[in-house]
Amino acid sequence: MTDGKGTYSLPALPYGYGELAPYISEQLLKVHHDGHHQKYVNQANALLEKLDKARADGTMLNMKCEAQALAFNVGGHFLHKLYWENMRPASSGGGGKPGGRIADALNKEFGSFERFQKEFTELANSVESSGWATLVWCTQTMRPLLVQVKDHDLYVIPGFKVLMVMDVWEHAYYLDYKNEKTKYTSNFWNIVNWDMVDKRLEKVLGGKGTVAQAGGSP
Ligand code: MN
Repeated sequence: MTDGKGTYSLPALPYGYGELAPYISEQLLKVHHDGHHQKYVNQANALLEKLDKARADGTMLNMKCEAQALAFNVGGHFLHKLYWENMRPASSGGGGKPGGRIADALNKEFGSFERFQKEFTELANSVESSGWATLVWCTQTMRPLLVQVKDHDLYVIPGFKVLMVMDVWEHAYYLDYKNEKTKYTSNFWNIVNWDMVDKRLEKVLGGKGTVAQAGGSP
């Protein structure tokens, strides 16, 4: 996810700014992508530069502080990239129900797509401050898991493969929804890119992987 020059760069959205409307407005998407996401990219690159400089100068930085700032900004960059990619305009196939292996995996784990949707929405609604609702794949149990991410700290779940994320920071919905977060989290289902979520699972499983039966042992 670097630009090949050892730095991070802001990816273009895979759709037009106005195309997720009416669920996410053009204005909100512009502020979110060009403002917030760009800032995480810039800050991550500035931190890398600062580390390079300190190493060249032989000066020691507060490593706890630098590592936390780097994780926050790089985590923010990665999560936003996943978020843009796992959305799609409703007019061109966004929303609806998943197919493929992801549909099988969700049915086996949750009993039905509706039950998964309900649990994920509740998980998102219950994020207390800034954070994310995520669907991840545990490669030990070969089962999907629902996980909350605090701020951008993706690194608390090393080894898990992220299949789908929903940004529930206030900046992700406040311009359009004000304090009505639950309207945003229920509208999100109209713009999920299930093909992308399925592709991510395919990538994890490869050609020969199988989805474990729910209740199966690790
Ligand atoms: Mn965000």
